[in-house]
Amino acid sequence: MTLANQVVAGAATNIAEDLKRVPAHAPGVVFVDLAALADNWRGLRDFVQPAECGAVVKADAYGLGAQQVIPTLSAAGCKTFFVATTREAGEARALAPDARIFVLDGLLPGAAADVAACGSIPILSTLAETREWAGYAKSHGADGKLSCGIHIDTGLNRLGLEPDEVRFLAGDADTLAHLDLKLVMSHMACADEPDHAMNRAQLGAFQSLRQALGHIPASLAASDGLMLGAGYHFDIVRPGYALYGGQAFQGGRTPVSRVVGAYSRVLQVRDAKPGETVGYSASYRFDRETRVAVLALGYADGFARMASRSSEHGPAAAGGGADIPYVCFAGQRAPIIGRVSMDLITVDITDIEGVPIARGDWAEIIGPNVSLEEVGIGAQTIGYEVLTRLGRRFHRAYGGGAPSFHGTVSEGSG
Ligand SMILES: *Cc1c(COP(=O)(O)O)cnc(C)c1O
Repeated sequence: MTLANQVVAGAATNIAEDLKRVPAHAPGVVFVDLAALADNWRGLRDFVQPAECGAVVKADAYGLGAQQVIPTLSAAGCKTFFVATTREAGEARALAPDARIFVLDGLLPGAAADVAACGSIPILSTLAETREWAGYAKSHGADGKLSCGIHIDTGLNRLGLEPDEVRFLAGDADTLAHLDLKLVMSHMACADEPDHAMNRAQLGAFQSLRQALGHIPASLAASDGLMLGAGYHFDIVRPGYALYGGQAFQGGRTPVSRVVGAYSRVLQVRDAKPGETVGYSASYRFDRETRVAVLALGYADGFARMASRSSEHGPAAAGGGADIPYVCFAGQRAPIIGRVSMDLITVDITDIEGVPIARGDWAEIIGPNVSLEEVGIGAQTIGYEVLTRLGRRFHRAYGGGAPSFHGTVSEGSG
């Protein structure tokens, strides 16, 4: 496995070279720059110190491959990982034997033995979970105790104890006797918007509620919240998206660089005449002589069907709006036209200058010219969903060397 230390120092950043190494049969490739990933974690660690910087690696490290991401972050110095499910915790445990692994989704009924078996720490969100985990700890824990975290709700109304439940737990000595509280946490609703009133409200609620449970390490901020200032950092921050190069926070640039590149092949180039249509339901009608590239990318690869463009959106050539989905060739935009189908999309390459586009060429889907956020906007979603949906048909290549992928390629599965 290629890890972050295999950076080719001073190497030219040449994506064309990287693409040449992709197997000829591969319809698409996702490059994951593990050196940039490690740099992002170290950058955030420095940014939030003296708070600890954890790493959220749920959903197979946001679709990038926990197998590669977790060892890379461990080697960079990360000691605390957050996953969503017990199964993810088991996978993480095998990859990071000495790390602390918190399970954000807590405990499903009857699952205590499985959670304990991989030595992970469930973050409990209901009184029922605290009782069940305490009951299991009583008979199975060292000295009748097991580690856990407590999630308290401060306004998101998703997971977490309500204020009166926090106070109830604080007085429930029978349950607390079996719980070794390692973390008290809450999650923010609007931390991407720096001026949103909910940020201060949740901060205030968290500051007062956590006190009820005594002096337990606390965590409030994810990728966006950690940008709100040191007052939001507490003892440990929980970034996910930012580690993978995402810019969730809208009030300024998070100090991270790009980790992911995605490219898809041109299968065919064709010329269409005004009045003709393209794709299912003939939803896009050409208003000019148009050169069309057909790409080996579709919704089965996680490319959202919402990125379809019909004539009602106006002609592609008028493009340029922030919400118009596009791919790039040599840094130039090719708007998506017609329906996104399962395995194919069609793009307008009429206005691409200086580069002949032919069968087998690569279109940039995510990269230096198309940010995760732009892909998200074009598909009426967010970069998070774009990442976690990148499909199994993409060839995956891991290496190190920011800013472009460059270095020793190690092949991933799929
Ligand atoms: C997913 C998640 C995170 C990480 O969020 P990012 O925005 O990706 O940094 C942190 N905390 C909780 C509770 C989460 O569910």
